[in-house]
Amino acid sequence: METTLVLIKPSGVQRAICGAVISRFEQKGLIIEGMKMMQLDEKILREHYAHLVDRPFFPSLIESMTVTPVIALALRGVNAVNVVREMTGSTNARKAAPGTIRGDFGMSGQENILHASDSIESAEKELARFFKPEELFNYTPITFPAIYASDDLNA
Ligand code: UDP
Ligand code: MG
Repeated sequence: METTLVLIKPSGVQRAICGAVISRFEQKGLIIEGMKMMQLDEKILREHYAHLVDRPFFPSLIESMTVTPVIALALRGVNAVNVVREMTGSTNARKAAPGTIRGDFGMSGQENILHASDSIESAEKELARFFKPEELFNYTPITFPAIYASDDLNA
């Protein structure tokens, strides 16, 4: 089992589609291990988007990511990092496939509704960045045996 980080960005909060986005993950069978609203600032975004600090769009990205609070989600499941990335879709929402969250809800490269960790290593770092250990809850929902066969859990 893996846990991955999602941020519903200000574009998702402003569009009032947080519920719709969270529903997609719940319907898929991902377990919500943590969820909270938080106001990001430049300091945490410089860490989170360290790979982009030298890009010309970085100031605009900071502004966009701080205009409202975000919703942070920790989602658990088998291969959760890849499953959630696939559900998220390509970075540019105009090019993201229909059926993905960005593909279904967005029209922008920057205002693309959500962030999702891109690897197991990133997920570990990002979860530690956005959640304290006591904000993550390791429980098993009663639906668990209907979501996974034992083979899935050995994968
Ligand atoms: N971004 C942007 N213009 C670009 C590339 C990225 O505005 O040309 C923004 C966009 O909001 C994206 C975020 O920077 O989601 C992080 O970029 P990354 O390449 O990590 O894409 P992601 O992992 O979010 O698909
Ligand atoms: Mg990324």
